[in-house]
Amino acid sequence: MLTDDIGIFTERGGTIAFLLSKKGIAVVDSQFPDQSKHLIDELKKKSEKPIKVLINTHHHGDHTAGNISFKGITEHVLAHENSKKNQENWGKQNKAEDKQLYPDQIYTDTWCQKVGKENICLYYYGAGHTNGDSVVHFQHANIVHMGDLHFNRRHPFVDRGAGANIKSWIEVLNKTWNKFDNKTKYIFGHAAEGYDVTGTADDLKKFADYLDAVLKFAESEIKAGKSKEDFLKNTSIPGQGEWKGDGINRPLQAAYEELTVK
Ligand SMILES: [Zn+2]
Ligand SMILES: [Zn+2]
Repeated sequence: MLTDDIGIFTERGGTIAFLLSKKGIAVVDSQFPDQSKHLIDELKKKSEKPIKVLINTHHHGDHTAGNISFKGITEHVLAHENSKKNQENWGKQNKAEDKQLYPDQIYTDTWCQKVGKENICLYYYGAGHTNGDSVVHFQHANIVHMGDLHFNRRHPFVDRGAGANIKSWIEVLNKTWNKFDNKTKYIFGHAAEGYDVTGTADDLKKFADYLDAVLKFAESEIKAGKSKEDFLKNTSIPGQGEWKGDGINRPLQAAYEELTVK
């Protein structure tokens, strides 16, 4: 628990947040089917109230595959309109529509609703990790779930196939820390081993610095005539040693393509 009524669940996949209120329960993201069943079992031990809404921060399977366990249990599933499209496309392409529970509520720019004494607001600030990432604010508790808009000290997945854009992602982070205050607590979709899935605006600023360094690194290497193949052989981002783990080729490739593919 982060507060008396807001907690996180981290079994496997993107960090889940939940709100327990006198009027009902709200859940942010669902990991995978087994994990969401475990979560629902735990929620039932803590509260007899109905699940009012399941929010998906974006469409990726490690955040939405568990939606199916909420079928007939949650009153609504909510996501940004682009996330819903991405979820439906993924289900169709993978012939897995029967294993999905799609959003029945969508929004474009902002969405707010009271759940008990808490007010939950979703904001869409443009393309980032995908083209459909929501920033989810529990106003009363002043806690923000970033979904995969923040990878804590871990190289991020940049889903260009679903409209991701690093330059825009940096702006999304900027808009986020400008919107909230210096007491806001943030929940992150993922963290490197040994790092927390919660943090502060300072972590967001460091991640924006990292993304900026990735783009600048790609820009200078492209100018120097380096091929994509050779650029992808890099094993670190200059000045950004704090960000580590597998998958450095993902941001490198995304940055190279963002700057060269029109
Ligand atoms: Zn994720
Ligand atoms: Zn993701």
